[in-house]
Amino acid sequence: MSYTVPFNRPYLTGHELEYVSQAIQNGDLSGDGPFSQRCSQLLEERFQINKVLLTPSCTAALEISMLLLDLTEGDEVILPSFTFVSSANAIVLAGGKPVFVDVDPHTLNLDPAQIQQAITERTKAIMPVHYAGVGCEMGTIMELADAHQLTVVEDAAQALNASCNNQALGTIGNLGAFSFHQTKNYSCGEGGALCINDESLIERAEIIREKGTNRSQFLKGHVDKYTWVDRGSSYLPSELSAAFLFGQLGAIDVITDLRQQCFQRYLEQLQPLADQGRLQLPTIPEYCQSNYHLFHILLPTQDIRDALLKHLNSRGIHAVFHYVPLHSSPAGIRLSGESVHLPVTDSISSRLLRLPIYPDLELELQHQVVTEISSFLNA
Ligand SMILES: *Cc1c(COP(=O)(O)O)cnc(C)c1O
Repeated sequence: MSYTVPFNRPYLTGHELEYVSQAIQNGDLSGDGPFSQRCSQLLEERFQINKVLLTPSCTAALEISMLLLDLTEGDEVILPSFTFVSSANAIVLAGGKPVFVDVDPHTLNLDPAQIQQAITERTKAIMPVHYAGVGCEMGTIMELADAHQLTVVEDAAQALNASCNNQALGTIGNLGAFSFHQTKNYSCGEGGALCINDESLIERAEIIREKGTNRSQFLKGHVDKYTWVDRGSSYLPSELSAAFLFGQLGAIDVITDLRQQCFQRYLEQLQPLADQGRLQLPTIPEYCQSNYHLFHILLPTQDIRDALLKHLNSRGIHAVFHYVPLHSSPAGIRLSGESVHLPVTDSISSRLLRLPIYPDLELELQHQVVTEISSFLNA
């Protein structure tokens, strides 16, 4: 089905083709070429990151992060159930056990009080997910991690160019992972990056990313041949992806500004419905600077959410919902049993609706979305 108002439309800055064509002329399209280096350097300088390694996806960056923890059977990593599957899969693939906790009903982010309760002798790490580009309470989370000697890996898939107490998201924990998937704010179709904030993890992360070899040290002249030294996999994106991405990263603030305008318009135009108690609008805490990755509303019940979703889709408006909570998914139950109860997660995931948002969403089309929501909820 084609929609009059798509859910998402990839935004082009106009430089992508030129850079991709330069990459082709350079003649070497494998990983870590000039464009990969330019992307990493841009992110490192702009967000004060010790080391950025581009990856084929955020999923891959999370996998490297979990491999770095050397989990053994029964080791636990705390994360929200209200997240994308990749957060949990990375833990499972590395041999650990995901421990799902509930989220705050306003930000839909990990609730620090719940994290504290979930910490056991087997806990090795915390994986906060910055939902919608709004930061988790990183100050409290880092204190908890310090007190219990836990590693913090930020799933910052949605959070590039957002911050918490003026610290860029993805750069606060020991490690952070960004996504450049087509649906994210800055994209190269499929792509990601690993931020290594903890310097002591850099060398081994490079090895895991290079198929378990010390090729990076070899290229820097630190060793005279390269060989298999650890476990690892192939976690480098091609120069074609990096060249496209470099075009996107050049307009990082332009993209955020356009999304912010879109976000503000929804807030203003939907406020009357919120005042009448017909829906709940997203909240951004004072200490957070969002990147306006997504716009969601919460309806009073699942029935109303489902009916509104159907109504919007029938009018050519592509609204969607997510996430099906991981703790009650078939794989989640197999791993953690049926005894995990996360009432906030269950409640919000059954009532949440995401509206179309992208940098060049036309005023008229956005107004149409608001009008359809109003007429449905006021009927
Ligand atoms: C998009 C997303 C991912 C996965 O990103 P990919 O780049 O597609 O692997 C992981 N976690 C969250 C929270 C996401 O939104």
